[in-house]
Amino acid sequence: MSAKKQKSYALEVTLVVLALVLAYFTQGIIQYANPPEASSIPSGDKTALSAGDEGVEDIVPGKSDEDKIPEFYERHLTDLAIAPDWSELDKYQYTISKRDFERELEEVYTINGKWKEWISTNEEFALIRMSAVDGEKLFKLFFATEVKQERPPKFWRTRDDLSVKDMNKPLLGLRIVIDPGHIGGDYAKVEEREFYYKDAAPVREGNLTLKVAKMLGKQLEILGAEVIFTREYLKPVNPHRPKHYHQYAHSKLTSMDLWANPAPIIRASEKLFYRAGEIKARAKHVNGDYRPDLVLCLHFNAGERSEELIQDEHFHMLLNGAYMDSEVAKDDQRFMMVQRILQRIHPEEARLSAFAADAFTSHTGLKPYQYNAESNYALNVDKNPYLWARNLAANRSYLCPVMFYEPYLMNGADSHARIIQGDYEGLRYMNGMLRPSIFREYVNAVTEGLVNYYSNRK
Ligand SMILES: [Zn+2]
Repeated sequence: MSAKKQKSYALEVTLVVLALVLAYFTQGIIQYANPPEASSIPSGDKTALSAGDEGVEDIVPGKSDEDKIPEFYERHLTDLAIAPDWSELDKYQYTISKRDFERELEEVYTINGKWKEWISTNEEFALIRMSAVDGEKLFKLFFATEVKQERPPKFWRTRDDLSVKDMNKPLLGLRIVIDPGHIGGDYAKVEEREFYYKDAAPVREGNLTLKVAKMLGKQLEILGAEVIFTREYLKPVNPHRPKHYHQYAHSKLTSMDLWANPAPIIRASEKLFYRAGEIKARAKHVNGDYRPDLVLCLHFNAGERSEELIQDEHFHMLLNGAYMDSEVAKDDQRFMMVQRILQRIHPEEARLSAFAADAFTSHTGLKPYQYNAESNYALNVDKNPYLWARNLAANRSYLCPVMFYEPYLMNGADSHARIIQGDYEGLRYMNGMLRPSIFREYVNAVTEGLVNYYSNRK
């Protein structure tokens, strides 16, 4: 090799190395500029890498005291709850009349007169037991009078509180949280929201609700609303994983005199993770960060499991209420019940849900679901066959009106076929009728209910 050739060879090598180094850095810069989509999630989703226990760090960034799992189960509190701070209710002194307070307790929030074991009233005030353990600890709530009536503080606004009005944007000024029920994806099995029929693809409720949520969000934004999602992926909002609940599950099982063996502990931990833990995490964001005017909880219902698909499908909406005796007896649930009454959430929730149910049934033709009249956990609302009060973690924990949809049966003959068909534009013959996709029907039905309600603002 001549000296000249050697020189140009060295130059080539240098150039190649330089190009590689440059490419490496450019790649780095591009990656830095476009972080993976998941890192833009506002909620706790980003820590969830995979299903189950794998790949989850024990220390989750940004985890506050509020996120901590209590060390021990306490039987006078709901799963994972901590004792409420009753002084938070001081700001509601003189905001509600005795009549309204007692009427909601009687007609909406409880089923029999057992609440009187926890709350006593006279003309001036109510005395509410703060602790199931200590009967001496009482919270004194003064009723509003003709001369003294304060407004209850709250972050959400009723229809009449919204001052802006625009005929082309009927939802302008409204802040809506969309809560796609359940988690879906790899978690559908553990949360028991996965349905198989013959050789059809599996139906996962958490996937369906997310699909509807995304389509619905776009539509509501076009109509002027500000939209926030509790969940944007097939992943939990809960920063913890089932294994993190083992100690708490052990404490719960032993305090209930149940066998605290590995298998029941694992199952109890899974339930704490996807149910109480997941709703708690979502509620923390809803009440602390998002502070919306209303929450839309989207679900697909399912009938009793059987080999065959179910012919009769139905629809209903669930408002918070109908606390069972055992629920009123829990310190945190009694606190939240009183807080909802004081914020006057039910009247707005009932008005909204009535409009929502009307629109939903006109789009779907679904019949009302009928709870047993003797049931000790459900109460009909305003004699509307589609509206039922039930005390669920989600409709209790979000501190604003909640519209909780329970339409279609995932294992119903009609809906299953439509779900398997997937989304499509326009109309198609489905089960003998020309219809939109089940997803668009859901979206349009929810949208119309909201537009009908909020178009009527002052
Ligand atoms: Zn559901």
